[in-house]
Amino acid sequence: MYVPDDPPENCPACGAPYASVSRHAGGFMVNLIDNERYRRVCFHPVGTSAGAAFDCFHHTHRQAGGSVDE
Ligand SMILES: [Zn+2]
Repeated sequence: MYVPDDPPENCPACGAPYASVSRHAGGFMVNLIDNERYRRVCFHPVGTSAGAAFDCFHHTHRQAGGSVDE
């Protein structure tokens, strides 16, 4: 998993703090059904020297404004 060298302080898609970020240049699948750690993943398009990619920002339940009990 590639992690950007210069990750922003907050998620550029929703403005909330995030737990981790990863960059994906190919196809990928996200499945958060019943995920205990993460509530939301935001996607932000980026251009790289190798072409287009997505930065994926992972928000925990607390960072996404939900209860950890949900
Ligand atoms: Zn976000």
